[in-house]
Amino acid sequence: MFVFKFGGASVKSAEAVRNIVNILQRFEKSEIVVVVSAMGKSTNALERIIDHYAGNNREGWDAEFQSLKAYHYEIINSLFEEEDHPVYEGVAALFEELSRRLEKSPTLNYDFDYDQVICFGELLSSTIIGHYLNRAALATRWIDVRRSLKTDSQWREARVDWELSSSLVQEQFSFNGEKILITQGFLGSTINDQSTSLGREGSDYTAAILAFMLKAESVTIWKDVPGVLNADPKYFDDTVLLEKLSYLDAIELAYYGTSVIHPKTIKPLQNKNINLHVRSFMDPDAPGTLVGNLSYEKLTPSFIFKMDQVLIRVSPLDFSFINENNLEEIFGFLGKHGMKINLMQNSAISFKMIVNNDKRRLRLVVDDLEKKFKVAYQTGLELVTIRYFDQSTIERVMINKELIMEQRGVQNIELLLRDRG
Ligand code: ASP
Ligand code: MG
Repeated sequence: MFVFKFGGASVKSAEAVRNIVNILQRFEKSEIVVVVSAMGKSTNALERIIDHYAGNNREGWDAEFQSLKAYHYEIINSLFEEEDHPVYEGVAALFEELSRRLEKSPTLNYDFDYDQVICFGELLSSTIIGHYLNRAALATRWIDVRRSLKTDSQWREARVDWELSSSLVQEQFSFNGEKILITQGFLGSTINDQSTSLGREGSDYTAAILAFMLKAESVTIWKDVPGVLNADPKYFDDTVLLEKLSYLDAIELAYYGTSVIHPKTIKPLQNKNINLHVRSFMDPDAPGTLVGNLSYEKLTPSFIFKMDQVLIRVSPLDFSFINENNLEEIFGFLGKHGMKINLMQNSAISFKMIVNNDKRRLRLVVDDLEKKFKVAYQTGLELVTIRYFDQSTIERVMINKELIMEQRGVQNIELLLRDRG
């Protein structure tokens, strides 16, 4: 049994959905669990709906709602010629349920409301694609993942209850003659059946969770790129495809920000020794990247760029040294406002951290810090991580840049840079 995951880009249009059929037909003999994301940028559209809804802006959410609806109907109208196809009933029911939800007043808990609304993206895409696969003579059963993937109630970043979910998943994801089971990525639910989500971009993680619980042979993430590249083509025009990656290398690259694989995906697969393939849905014959229990001699340097970074420098007001108590306080403020640190460094009298330029969070964190510390910050920086670095790779990223901070490990180096201007 295989797990296939199709992300937003691979289900963004009627043409993309037709292409899924082409891919699945190549595996006609196998049993496959298909995990799908919301179509195209639907999750972002739902986030806008939620913002308007939370702000009681009815006109705002209604306009977004109508355009989300039009987008999905355009896809089904192109995929299904018969006007009485049951897909229409399924999709209409979901839009009705969503609109009923939006008619209720928002609760005081934004994150809770978010999860009750965001789930419609994946529910819609899996419903549409499930019907289309059946129509294409690929016998498919639709499964609501929320009935088996149980989580806590940490809305928007829910944590999976592995034990409970395992037995439910094994019960529900059983093949009874059909070759394909289709379900939603990114979603779960609490023990009381309230919807939860696993964090943005979480569908890869769902694929890994299901593969782990069902002991799949392998997972394939079908993407709009040829596989995992050693750098984002936005920044380099001579990128190389990494044909093989060890679990550790994949975890490190995902952790530092390679956007191709969600960082939480690898660990469950590694624990059960399940291979992960990252392959192009446009070129399904190409091998892509294989992640597994692999070793290799040639260690290709990989580059990860994070733009628009902010360096925050914190020092005690009374000229004392940075100590454990200060750090506890500093981390407390970051935790409170949900700000993540990309890199940190401390010296006797100051503590430095690099964060994304999330203006709202930054303001909140700095306001809190300033009550206790002297705070200075610098924006417009760029953080480059190089895995398997050497002098020439460092020189390559340093052209016309000024080095603000550096952290060197055995395998990785991180360079905080600023344009020389
Ligand atoms: N649809 C969700 C998102 O856009 C989950 C995913 O695509 O992985 O974040
Ligand atoms: Mg993704």
